[in-house]
Amino acid sequence: MQRVTDTLNFDHFQRVFTLLGRCTEDYLFIFDLQQDYYTISESAAERFALPSSQFYNASMELQKVCHPDDWDMLKQNIDGIIAGTVFEHNVEYRWMSRTGHPVWINCCGQILADDKGQAQYMIGRITELERKSIVDNVTGFYRETRLWSDLSKISKNAEDGGFLLLIGIDNFRNVNDKFGKAYGDVVLSNVADCIRKCVGEDGMAYRMSGDEMLIVMAGAAFLEQPDPARKLYHRIRKMVDESILEHGYQHFYTISGGSVYFNGQEQKDEIYVKETEFALHQAKLKGKNTYVKYNEEEYRLFVKRLDMQERLRQAVKEDFKGFTLYYQPIVNIEKQKILGAEALLRWEDEVFGRVSPGEFIPLLEESGLIIPVGRWIMKTAMQQCLKWQEKDPDFRVNINLSFIQLKKSNVIRDIDGYMTELRFNSRNVLFEVTESGELEEGEMMKKILQAFRKRKLSLGIDDFGTGYSNFRYVKEMMFHLVKIDQSFIRNITQSQYDYLVVKQFTELAHSLNLKVCYEGVETDEELKCVLKLKPDYIQGFYFARPVPSDEFEKNYLCKIQGF
Ligand code: C2E
Ligand code: MG
Ligand code: MG
Repeated sequence: MQRVTDTLNFDHFQRVFTLLGRCTEDYLFIFDLQQDYYTISESAAERFALPSSQFYNASMELQKVCHPDDWDMLKQNIDGIIAGTVFEHNVEYRWMSRTGHPVWINCCGQILADDKGQAQYMIGRITELERKSIVDNVTGFYRETRLWSDLSKISKNAEDGGFLLLIGIDNFRNVNDKFGKAYGDVVLSNVADCIRKCVGEDGMAYRMSGDEMLIVMAGAAFLEQPDPARKLYHRIRKMVDESILEHGYQHFYTISGGSVYFNGQEQKDEIYVKETEFALHQAKLKGKNTYVKYNEEEYRLFVKRLDMQERLRQAVKEDFKGFTLYYQPIVNIEKQKILGAEALLRWEDEVFGRVSPGEFIPLLEESGLIIPVGRWIMKTAMQQCLKWQEKDPDFRVNINLSFIQLKKSNVIRDIDGYMTELRFNSRNVLFEVTESGELEEGEMMKKILQAFRKRKLSLGIDDFGTGYSNFRYVKEMMFHLVKIDQSFIRNITQSQYDYLVVKQFTELAHSLNLKVCYEGVETDEELKCVLKLKPDYIQGFYFARPVPSDEFEKNYLCKIQGF
């Protein structure tokens, strides 16, 4: 503690102090502890709920400006300084702004004693932590910058372990867009309050980017129970729900959570945080308002899908490298001869090897790559079909169209383009679309399907019976063909139910003048069984598996006859 010397001229000093106060973003203060008199930079009096820049009854006024939760700590510190038991004032706590918001500050003061050794003045500066990007004033939590320094300390002496729980507000962007940013801040601050209450003294919370807040709980106890992060998430969720009802907020919102456990093993802190982000993302994918614990296997699959998507993008760029079309015969039952073939996409990659369509087609769809690949399929299949028409003029190729192609690209313009360029006849192609709820809903889709009809292009509904099977719709949209899904054929010899369903579907389709194709007929027994139901066409391993074009030409073109 310094001693006040005789030369300290207080008036003179205050003038210097006022000038200095104007040169810095921080607030300077002198607290006369004996007179209970406080002087602070004018800018502080403007910003905070203080009576003015100079006032008596300092202890009482400080209590008013101090956040109620922080007062005890502050009072204890000041009392200690006055009593001569505490010699340091360097504290982080909250002052209330004039608009009623808590603002995190760091107050650092030096103590000057009088000639009897009694503390007389405290002189120092107050810094708003947010200005230094340390604290976020909306939630009152430390920002991410602070997380990294804290986390490195925690995880280094965490042989005991602990967990990270990342909380996100569901559809937060909608909240902001619909009710404005100010209301968004109210939501954030409310969730933060609930987190603070549930976490208590046991852990720390940090404001991450956007609507996410990360909770760090360190201690061996957190590893012993089955999943304490889940428990904590549910406690916070319950409190958020209750607070919304209690405050009568105009909008009901929910939160999701993702967690990861650490147990002192060597792993970078960024990786733990990334893993909680992944877990939270999974929770959102699972429909939100839920919790997911990080799972290594799911993460591996996720990364694999991303890598695979990258390889697919590269393949498209390199002139569709690794893509080929296989062809599977479709047999006309009445004529006992081959009607044509379905073109089926295959992909072989240097890194991933041969990948099944069930795996890579959804990736093409998600990434939008199905649009350029779909064009390539169309052109390649039509060119192949033209070649085979030289031997079989009626040969028809079935081309699968993804819903994404219909919705997000001008598929009709592409078809028109290739038909003109290749002088392709519309009777030699049929487009298969998989039934889906979306297909039936959109007006736009109706228009697209009508455009097919206008061009006399045949349409088939694929995998019928697996989704929103609706014969009225099939009829209205002028589909020509219904392909009954192979899952019905798989059990047809054992399941009376499946047999009857297929029978009904077939009779109904025929009564509406639609052709019927059965997919997935594999055995002699199945063939015998389904022939009784009089399908128009059959496609299945019984006749042939999908094969490359040269093999198709050699083994099947004009060859499947009599059975
Ligand atoms: P899909 O259009 O229903 O094609 C029929 C699928 O059933 C093919 O699988 C075919 O190999 C398989 N299959 C045919 N007969 C049998 C059988 O007797 N038993 C069994 N177990 N399976 C049989 P693949 O080639 O794996 O294709 C799966 C799906 O991927 C296709 O179902 C289709 O939805 C999609 N797909 C394939 N190629 C393309 C394409 O060029 N474009 C688009 N958009 N989707 C495609
Ligand atoms: Mg198909
Ligand atoms: Mg199918």
